[in-house]
Amino acid sequence: MESTWRWSAETERVLDEVVATRRDIHAHPELGLQERRTAGLVGERLRALGLEVRTGVGVTGVVGLVEGGRPGPTVMLRADMDALPLQETGDVPYASQVPGVMHACGHDAHTAMLLGVARILAGQRAELAGRVKLVFQPAEEGGGGARLMVADGVLRQPAVSAAFGLHVWNSLPIGTIGILTGPLMAATDALTLRVRGRGGHAASPHEAVDPIITAAHFLMAAQTAVSRSTDPVRPAVFTVGSIHGGEARNIIPEEVVLEGTLRTLDAGVRERMLRRLEAILQGVTAAHGGDYVFDHRPGYPVTVSDAACAELAREVSREVVGAERVVAPPPTMGGEDMSYYLQEVPGCYLWLGSANAAKGLAQPHHNPRFDFDERAMGIGVEVLVRLARRALEHPERCGGAPAAG
Ligand SMILES: [Zn+2]
Ligand SMILES: [Zn+2]
Repeated sequence: MESTWRWSAETERVLDEVVATRRDIHAHPELGLQERRTAGLVGERLRALGLEVRTGVGVTGVVGLVEGGRPGPTVMLRADMDALPLQETGDVPYASQVPGVMHACGHDAHTAMLLGVARILAGQRAELAGRVKLVFQPAEEGGGGARLMVADGVLRQPAVSAAFGLHVWNSLPIGTIGILTGPLMAATDALTLRVRGRGGHAASPHEAVDPIITAAHFLMAAQTAVSRSTDPVRPAVFTVGSIHGGEARNIIPEEVVLEGTLRTLDAGVRERMLRRLEAILQGVTAAHGGDYVFDHRPGYPVTVSDAACAELAREVSREVVGAERVVAPPPTMGGEDMSYYLQEVPGCYLWLGSANAAKGLAQPHHNPRFDFDERAMGIGVEVLVRLARRALEHPERCGGAPAAG
């Protein structure tokens, strides 16, 4: 299996450092928008390579620019830096030294890989036809760091013509790479729904309006919006993960609060589901004599890979892991804020297979024992370097001319 992976001597030379960096970041995880140590380390390494560096982009983000020796477009490579509020329970020597905070998604690997890529590309500066913008962003895990980076101008000066990123992915074995044209990860919407009734005595429900009964009806009816109002081949999921109402067994409360998330892969389905959920809430509460508040906070957009850029990513990935190991996985209803860049510029987001069940390295992401086969980072570095270089050499194949601005 391993003989099918091919990486260059350059990748081989940086791999030990990439692994060491990943372990260092893993031992010192930081939550979103608090990535000060990580951002400091990134900035220091990029400056040591002689790159132009901007810090404090989107709060704690860092941007390094590899200026090529020949003219050409600007290709962006992105890594995220944040960890999760989770207590690590694995007993690896590089386990988190911060109680209650852990790199359980693999963003430590993303940062370490992109630093390895920076070192390789910095050494190839003279040959590059254009620039590579290395983007280290904060707060992917719910904080929308990518949105902050975009608002802070990360896609401009110089204007980015194509953007790429990858995620270590334990749903795929090491040596495989998952690439899709179109939607790969879902749009996420946060819903806070208040079902309002009228409080009263448990023994006299006729004098009250019971929001608990109303909320129960809503919960069941809301699932029919998924099964009856959306095209079965275009997925949607609505999950209520929190429900709060009432303090005592003999009191009908005034209000029940439901917190849920809506996940969709299609803008039309998303709009329709939001309308249907509110209509059901409105109808059910009216039928029970109550009232409601429908509070909707849009989350991350759908993560969509451009067809031409995805094809370029497939080509490069085939060279590294072999054609049969470049797969088209089913999309996931998880969200990813890489979507903010990909809705502005064409590009591709890749899943880098990182599980190795034989070594006990196949825990799901966000698990307190999450870990992966670190050799996947060699594949990741190789793919990113090749992808950046190929996109610079052939701008007509992905991205074309940079957008104005
Ligand atoms: Zn995550
Ligand atoms: Zn992640």
